Amino acid sequence: MGSSPLPVSLQSKLQRPVQVSRLKSFSRTLDLIRNVVFLLFVLRFTRQSFYFLRGYGPVGSLLYFYRALRKRAYQLFLRAPGVRSQVDKQIAATKADIESKIAADIPETSRNLSLPAEPWSPEHLRSELATLAAAKRTRWEEGKVSGAVYHGGDELIKCLSCRAQDGAEVVAMVLSLFNAPPEAAGATTSGGTESILMAVLSARNKAYHERNVTEPELIIPSTAHAAFQKAAEYFKIKLHLAPCPAPAYTVSIPHVRRLINPNTILLVGSCPNYPHGIIDPIAQLSKLAISHSIPLHVDCCLGSFLVPLLSQAGFPTSLSGPLDFRSPGVTSISVDTHKYGFAPKGNSCILYRNTSLRRYQYFISPSWSGGVYGSPSIAGSRPGALIAGCWASMMSLGVSGYVSATNKIVAARQTLQNAISEHPDLKGTLKVIGDPLVSVVAFLSVDPAIDIYDIADAMSKREWHLNSLQDPPGLHVAVTLPMATSEGAVDSLIEDLVSVVREEKEKVNARVRNGEKVKKGSTAQLYGVAGSLPDKSVVERVVVAYLDTLYKA
Ligand SMILES: *Cc1c(COP(=O)(O)O)cnc(C)c1O
Repeated sequence: MGSSPLPVSLQSKLQRPVQVSRLKSFSRTLDLIRNVVFLLFVLRFTRQSFYFLRGYGPVGSLLYFYRALRKRAYQLFLRAPGVRSQVDKQIAATKADIESKIAADIPETSRNLSLPAEPWSPEHLRSELATLAAAKRTRWEEGKVSGAVYHGGDELIKCLSCRAQDGAEVVAMVLSLFNAPPEAAGATTSGGTESILMAVLSARNKAYHERNVTEPELIIPSTAHAAFQKAAEYFKIKLHLAPCPAPAYTVSIPHVRRLINPNTILLVGSCPNYPHGIIDPIAQLSKLAISHSIPLHVDCCLGSFLVPLLSQAGFPTSLSGPLDFRSPGVTSISVDTHKYGFAPKGNSCILYRNTSLRRYQYFISPSWSGGVYGSPSIAGSRPGALIAGCWASMMSLGVSGYVSATNKIVAARQTLQNAISEHPDLKGTLKVIGDPLVSVVAFLSVDPAIDIYDIADAMSKREWHLNSLQDPPGLHVAVTLPMATSEGAVDSLIEDLVSVVREEKEKVNARVRNGEKVKKGSTAQLYGVAGSLPDKSVVERVVVAYLDTLYKA
């Protein structure tokens, strides 16, 4: 071959003129293909830009890019040499703080770092459980914790011994509570999050198999539960948050409509949402879903058994129309039996309008070496005792039991809400968010001198653990059955709230008198800083530190 870079055979071919013209036509074809590919790329880009512009509007799109740019700039700033080490130091300190707080609650002696060599005797087990129970930190049994443990009373705990029953009856009972058509179907899951994951997965798979959607998009109200964001992240779905503007704080239908495009796999409405306890306009979402032939999920995780029984318990329900399968566009509903169904934690249901929607959440591996395999949802082995506990809760309360619970819980929420909007010490300072109809009431501070998070901290000192909200900054109370039924619990909550607001006002007045600067409390600091950051990676690192601590033995 000598010094020539081309093989001899090719050299000789290139020297022939006929071959040159053939080569030219080949390169023209290549150009054409390149142009077509480029055109397709431009077309795709234009199409995506069009949907983006339509979804967010010109100003919204500009804002979106401005925020993305600001976030990127802030990320670079955080990586600057001096800044980075400072942030690392602060996070290490926060992490140590979290660990010391959590570790302090568990006695050193009862940490089991490995399996015991010999089986424990029943007495040993019992005494260990008693020790752990004594170290518990929360006061939910006295009705002092908002949400989290939506308990149905002591007697129920006792009768929840393991009973072999499958979830079919649980699903059937919940379906009938939500006015499901005869062809409807459902499944039990481990909790609201799994129910939501399943609904999103089913919608994604349906869109893929029936419409060949390979770049799925999901539209949710900005107030929808974080589990939808989890689903979008787990299943690689592009997520759009539709605004829920004041004063109603329900999802804006025109915004949802504009965000719909051929890649949309599912619309979502909360019934009610977790932050504010407000019900989205389900009937209007249903119309939208029908006119675009997209599924609609109703998140009734929190509403659970309260929402379907509102009118039977004598309370107003949503004016816009039915909230369940009677709205024809509703294709799936998540219902947490472990919330206001009073079942033990680890129980929820996902309901579908028909069996083919449920089929899309199934996982099947017909040729697995371990045998033909099928699984209805995320868990492989299922917690039979938990589902039996759910069944037992439902059977032991019956409709009348749930109606009476709904009555007490919603009435307690009304009492609390009325106090916030009418009590002379509260009404100029706090304001209820929107028009809640169920068990949650959220409020914000309308007095610029009073930080709502300082109220949270002060309430916390009085052992009221209220939940902090952001965007807008606020607090909420989720009324539980113990809170509604414990003698004087709601009244003492109102009294404490009044005292706390008075104290905060006095503090502000004292500061003004003495010309002092405002000193923010720990929650106000956390949310103040978190809210102002364009990029939340520092907040994320603190949360990661917290989550790591959960599994530190
Ligand atoms: C509780 C809740 C969920 C699900 O949460 P889990 O903790 O997984 O049960 C979903 N949506 C709303 C509105 C909720 O309040």
